[in-house]
Amino acid sequence: MNESKTAHHLVVSNLAKSFSASPEALTVLRDVSLELSAGESLAIVGPSGSGKSTLLQILGTLDRPDHGMVNINGVNPFELDESELAQFRNQHVGFVFQDHHLLPQLSVLENVLVPALASGNSSSEHQSHACELIESVGLAERQNHLPSELSGGERERVAIARSLLMRPSLILADEPTGNLDRNTADTVSELLLELQQTSGAILIAVTHSDKLADSMQYRKELLDGQLV
Ligand code: ADP
Ligand code: MG
Repeated sequence: MNESKTAHHLVVSNLAKSFSASPEALTVLRDVSLELSAGESLAIVGPSGSGKSTLLQILGTLDRPDHGMVNINGVNPFELDESELAQFRNQHVGFVFQDHHLLPQLSVLENVLVPALASGNSSSEHQSHACELIESVGLAERQNHLPSELSGGERERVAIARSLLMRPSLILADEPTGNLDRNTADTVSELLLELQQTSGAILIAVTHSDKLADSMQYRKELLDGQLV
């Protein structure tokens, strides 16, 4: 394990992002700044189309800002070359998407192990950590099942386990409970927060659920390209 990952810290300053769509450019993010430390959690709310997913994509280093800076544990990922960036993302960022993005042909265990396989050095430590995570999301009995054999809430729990496999500094969740009924959503929210607290990672979740937003430490709204 990488010792330097224990003091997780995220600094985001003055992010701006536009999309050049005809007839005119669409400015989505104008000036977004935030700072979070290990174990802290931020809920981002805001109307559809306000740029929440765009912001998460940039924080997850999947897209680049036009201006501004992202710094994760002292590293500006946008200064890395493409292969270093892919490795950095793999080591530091865990993603949980609304529609879980599980691979349908892989079992629960294999899906949770995907980030380790992607890193190119999957180890027995990853294997045992994957089993631990699957157990902690309550799916120990289901680890050889395919995603199609699971309920929506169970699939989302697999996605949460997968996001934690590499012991990320930052967990980014985009409407993690958006497709779930209320009871299932509450269970999944509690699990996400509990595992984030245990791991010490920073959690940023985009959500329409007041319940999830209220159970997180900070809450901000994305309005007119700014966090308020
Ligand atoms: P939210 O997640 O808050 O609903 P998004 O970040 O998905 O909002 O999108 C914000 C705005 O940016 C929307 O108007 C969307 O159509 C636009 N947008 C997002 N991605 C792109 C893209 N790759 N190219 C052009 N426009 C985009
Ligand atoms: Mg979105």
